Amino acid sequence: MADNYDAIVIGSGHNGLVAACYLALNGKKVLVIEKNHYFGGATTSVETFKGVKARLSRYSYLIALLPDQIIKDLSLNFKTISRSVSSYTPYFDDEGDKGLLVNRVFDQETVESMTALTGDSSDAIAWQNFYDSVQEFAGAIAPTLLAPLPTASEIQELVDPLTWIELVENTLAQTLHDNFFDDLIKGVVLTDGLIGTFTGANDHAANKCFIYHLIGNGTGEWKVPVGGMGALVDELLRRCNELGVEFWSDSEVVSARDQDDHVAIETADQRAVTAQVLLANCAPKVLEKISGIKAPDLLDGCQLKINMVLRELPKLKSGIDPKVAFAGTFHINESYHQLERAYQEALKGEIPSEIPAEMYCHTLTDSSILDSELVANGFHTLTLFALHLPASLFDKNHDEVKAEVVKRTLAGLNQYLERPIADYLALDSEGKPCIEAKTPQELETALGLPRGNIFHGNLEFPWKDDSDSRKWGVETESPRIFLAGAGAVRGGGVSGIAGHNAAMAALETLD
Ligand SMILES: Cc1cc2nc3c(=O)[nH]c(=O)nc-3n(C[C@H](O)[C@H](O)[C@H](O)COP(=O)(O)OP(=O)(O)OC[C@H]3O[C@@H](n4cnc5c(N)ncnc54)[C@H](O)[C@@H]3O)c2cc1C
Repeated sequence: MADNYDAIVIGSGHNGLVAACYLALNGKKVLVIEKNHYFGGATTSVETFKGVKARLSRYSYLIALLPDQIIKDLSLNFKTISRSVSSYTPYFDDEGDKGLLVNRVFDQETVESMTALTGDSSDAIAWQNFYDSVQEFAGAIAPTLLAPLPTASEIQELVDPLTWIELVENTLAQTLHDNFFDDLIKGVVLTDGLIGTFTGANDHAANKCFIYHLIGNGTGEWKVPVGGMGALVDELLRRCNELGVEFWSDSEVVSARDQDDHVAIETADQRAVTAQVLLANCAPKVLEKISGIKAPDLLDGCQLKINMVLRELPKLKSGIDPKVAFAGTFHINESYHQLERAYQEALKGEIPSEIPAEMYCHTLTDSSILDSELVANGFHTLTLFALHLPASLFDKNHDEVKAEVVKRTLAGLNQYLERPIADYLALDSEGKPCIEAKTPQELETALGLPRGNIFHGNLEFPWKDDSDSRKWGVETESPRIFLAGAGAVRGGGVSGIAGHNAAMAALETLD
């Protein structure tokens, strides 16, 4: 006879672990089943390069969406720190190499940098006004994320009507053109609508992605996880263990069937187990395969992630101190025009001629992911996230396309550096350069992300139509099976929100 649990969680991504903690805190008997030999899904830290003691956040790297409430409820000893710089965008004009510096706190230096780019202060003023409205909007939405899913009308009552029109009804393209003059400034703003979402500025998919990137904890500030993403998983595992959650690793769930009064589960290693409720931390498309519960169609994942360890920070042609340039998000080929052109080229099945990308250096804010010798010798990590590279580009001749894409992405970076990035790479114990790249297909193999979609599916606005009967946004057609991963409404990103909400829905069924 199969073992019986109150709840089984398929997948040990951070959302799965958050769900397991909340269920166990409420006295439920919980089992987490993970297909990989390690736990944490897309939120892991790994010593990626042989003999190099640098624990890189291999997939996700920055945190904005994880509510402080979850950290408090679960007594997690986990901290994130602010970056002093929000972003640096190198550019050149007739006079030479320059850069647009945006500090986290909008200050005189930022105004001067914007004015130097555009010739007057109008975009700087527009920037401040625009982000003040966004912040107000974020402040209204953030408190709703751990409560039952509000309706669009309820949210509309909480927010400024003009901001609603600009962020929800109008396309981002229109909103950007209405607010800003400069192509580079429009591009820097637009990137938050494109991370992990294969879309252009004229599609409302960009609005959804934009809103997710700006509402975290009511500020939308992207912070550095101390100790890397793996530190979050370590803490969640510690709490799970304290609370008596059981784990199976190296065990892929291949069947999950609602049997009316319980759910029956089978794994590839031929284990069978049952539960009163099932929480799917895996993507909805994976759940569809194993349970028959239909999942919505989704956009291709569209990013290339590159991880690097450097012997020293690269020097820039613009002359800015690299410790400033790389402290925030470093934008490459991300003017509005470049982003839109890259999207159109990728839509046609071509590798974008100029690949848009953004990059950041974890170790400038938190050096604890390096061992002390590497810190003393000036080593740093760099994380690059390239956009508009849909999985379809890599379907044929994967390895050749990947090599070309990596080459073109690094060429985009090199145009702003005094020496090519290859000159700065550390070497591993076999003398190989410390650089690895992950395509959407490789993410699908490693993490079960369908077509490499980092959000498990297409993002939805964090509210529902007035006629929608779902309570938490985690429900499926089975009353015993819930989405506890990025594919739930309000699920995308490192937030734990889907895990929390699935646990709340499951507890209502169990109690
Ligand atoms: C390269 C990359 C960079 C990103 N950067 C950021 C970032 O900086 N900040 C941010 O907020 N978000 C980022 N994201 C998105 C974010 O990481 C994800 O949305 C989030 O981690 C999803 O967490 P999850 O717990 O829902 O699912 P996942 O982390 O995807 O975990 C799902 C788990 O389910 C397991 N699984 C799947 N199928 C089965 C099965 N059949 N049986 C058993 N186990 C199974 C998987 O192995 C995995 O462990 C990034 C994602 C990627 C891939």
